Amino acid sequence: MSSAPTVPSATGGIDFTVPAELQELLDRVNAFIEEDVLPAEVEITDPQDVLASWDVVERLRDRARERGIYTPHLPEEWGGLGVGVLGMALVNQACGVSGLASLGLNAMAPDEGNMHTLLIAGTPDQLEEYLRPLAEGRTRSCFAMTEPDVASSDPTNLQTTAVRDEASGEWVLNGTKWCITGAEGAAFAIVVAKTGSSEPTTHRDYSLILVPTDTPGWEITRHPEWMGSHSPGGHPEIRMTDVRVPLGNLLGNEGEGFVIAQKRLAGGRLAHAMRWIGVAQRALDMTSQRLLQRKAFGKELARHQGLQFMIADSAMDLYASRLMVLHTAWKVENGLPHRQEIAMTKTFVSEAFGRIVDRAVQIHGAAGIAMDLPIARWYQDARAARIYDGASEVHRMVIARECLKLAMQGQSTTAATGDLG
Ligand SMILES: Cc1cc2nc3c(=O)[nH]c(=O)nc-3n(C[C@H](O)[C@H](O)[C@H](O)COP(=O)(O)OP(=O)(O)OC[C@H]3O[C@@H](n4cnc5c(N)ncnc54)[C@H](O)[C@@H]3O)c2cc1C
Repeated sequence: MSSAPTVPSATGGIDFTVPAELQELLDRVNAFIEEDVLPAEVEITDPQDVLASWDVVERLRDRARERGIYTPHLPEEWGGLGVGVLGMALVNQACGVSGLASLGLNAMAPDEGNMHTLLIAGTPDQLEEYLRPLAEGRTRSCFAMTEPDVASSDPTNLQTTAVRDEASGEWVLNGTKWCITGAEGAAFAIVVAKTGSSEPTTHRDYSLILVPTDTPGWEITRHPEWMGSHSPGGHPEIRMTDVRVPLGNLLGNEGEGFVIAQKRLAGGRLAHAMRWIGVAQRALDMTSQRLLQRKAFGKELARHQGLQFMIADSAMDLYASRLMVLHTAWKVENGLPHRQEIAMTKTFVSEAFGRIVDRAVQIHGAAGIAMDLPIARWYQDARAARIYDGASEVHRMVIARECLKLAMQGQSTTAATGDLG
């Protein structure tokens, strides 16, 4: 008998089983979606104006509280469940099937990200004043970074200023922002403003400032029309003219705006990726059903190999997307470096989402273009996904830079490709 060396099982350290406690939560979230959220979709009179049917969202939040699943991402002391990044990956995937699901859990962008930002950087007073009502669903918020007049992919271009007025003990903000999701009706904004004056400008010149939207000088100047789903509160343009807030409204330390924003964006980018997977799964489900229901050229569409290949490609896109999200969430949760993985996951999943809904449109024919079904709207949503939270090209720049850095050190690029060994 040969005595082959024992090779440790490759699966020894990798367990993809969902822990029982988390599975139980997912079952409750799925029941909430099936029994409360999906039936409520027809009650939204205008899907492009969810604020007009906000009572439906309030009712869903009451149901979520009754089911014990409200704000799962928040720590228990803030009324949540303390579900970590990996758990939220699975919750958000489930929620992706309907825009109302995340709203019902009060775990949607931008409020979810703003809650995390406040938890990371807020003082006890700021948490009471801003996080408490947000967590309880009494207010909404927005995050104001992008500006219409400069390429905001490069944040050192941002021109909005916050100047310290020591005499009055206030910050004085001036500038214009746009595409600020949820700004209409938001109680406050977290504004990215230039507080430093380095030459040339660096990331360290920017800070985060909490601005209540009823402060004189804060003005919504325009509601541009945007392609795709309309978030509650739209994506308006904002002008700030001598907006004065107390110096104590600085969130985190001066000059740390982007350090904090990066932490916020890591979770935010993953949350988006998870929801896109949920939508893409629903698109693939609808597409597979459609193939079984219609016939062309003497046989079901499902029997045409060209269409089978499209289904197969979508299944592979979904599988790869799920694994990337779960691996990245695992890294974040375990405190491992994850910048590269976030960039790769955000880019890949947003683009896979686009490919999957594009195939869904094609397979549905004219029905894929009609707004009767949600598919045409998802197609538009998927296009925007490649731009917000970092355009694909900017993420590719970051990803490639990391590979080249290792290459310049004469090392393998393995560490820049997920570092899976
Ligand atoms: C639906 C939606 C919601 C949004 N919500 C918010 C919000 O709530 N708050 C907020 O502040 N912003 C928000 N944004 C704005 C978003 O963050 C910006 O659009 C994004 O950061 C890009 O900035 P920009 O539009 O100024 O594009 P620009 O910086 O002008 O870039 C334009 C294009 O140039 C290319 N490009 C840029 N840099 C490079 C590079 N280095 N290499 C190669 N190509 C490059 C990319 O293709 C990029 O899309 C939202 C956007 C959308 C679409």
